[in-house]
Amino acid sequence: MPDLIESCRVCPRACGVRREADKGNGFCRRGAEPEVARAALHFWEEPCISGTRGSGTVFFTGCSLQCVYCQNYEISAEHKIGKTVTAQELSDLFFRLVEQGAHNINLVNPTHFAPGIAEALRLRPLPVPVVYNSGGYESLETLRMLDGLVDIYLPDFKYMDAELAGRWSGARDYPERAKETVLEMARQTGPVVFDEDGILQRGTIVRHLILPGHTRNSIAVLDWLAENLPAGVQVSLMAQYVPCGRAAEFPEINRRITRREYEKVQQHLFLLGLDGYVQELQSAKKDFIPPFNLEGVSP
Ligand code: SF4
Repeated sequence: MPDLIESCRVCPRACGVRREADKGNGFCRRGAEPEVARAALHFWEEPCISGTRGSGTVFFTGCSLQCVYCQNYEISAEHKIGKTVTAQELSDLFFRLVEQGAHNINLVNPTHFAPGIAEALRLRPLPVPVVYNSGGYESLETLRMLDGLVDIYLPDFKYMDAELAGRWSGARDYPERAKETVLEMARQTGPVVFDEDGILQRGTIVRHLILPGHTRNSIAVLDWLAENLPAGVQVSLMAQYVPCGRAAEFPEINRRITRREYEKVQQHLFLLGLDGYVQELQSAKKDFIPPFNLEGVSP
């Protein structure tokens, strides 16, 4: 899909820059070739993704959202670390993770590099499921290009409130794009399928992170998901918010969520009868943020 990159419309921002020539001029400030900050086994995803051997997690540098509170801010917005890789090098990196026992290849924040990642996936099919783990802000054209290459979608659905989406992610259109995104992902994968050990092989799990002081936003997200998701799509309610990145500049989100906030949203999820996962409140600590140090990027 070179034209997606030549006048970039890989994500909904549609900056229109030539990613090869004008490297750095789009919102994500990244060139066309994927840039990787870490590739290692990771044990902090939902149990059906991490399993017992870990998820082969590949963290990409840069982001088309750059939320002010991002737990990976040092790579998503500050680009402190990252190595540019060719499609062949990326494919080789995936296979090294498979050799280490990874249950899947988990592409974290892949959106802005989707064309390059697709090229790597086409070079040599993987023997384990491919997980596309994104912020939920996708263009339908890019998603359709990925159809058949991705087995599991793991999108966020962060906001139903356009004002919050504008303030913290610079994307007032996030709610509309996220709705299209999760429906297209669900259409591609169909219902969840697990192997005999309970490891997810195919399907879509929509994640929602509870933000401090904004349970109404969370409840609106869950209401929309309950009304609109096809059967067999799961929801993962996340309580792991800790202030990171530039959160200190926004006093209302410069704290963890309270037990009361957590229970209010959790009870609403139960009331709606949504199928999926609920993270413990104790998960709200920085231990789950791995070091970004180029581990696993080179042979
Ligand atoms: S991928 Fe980057 S350059 Fe392309 S449209 Fe999105 S933010 Fe802009």
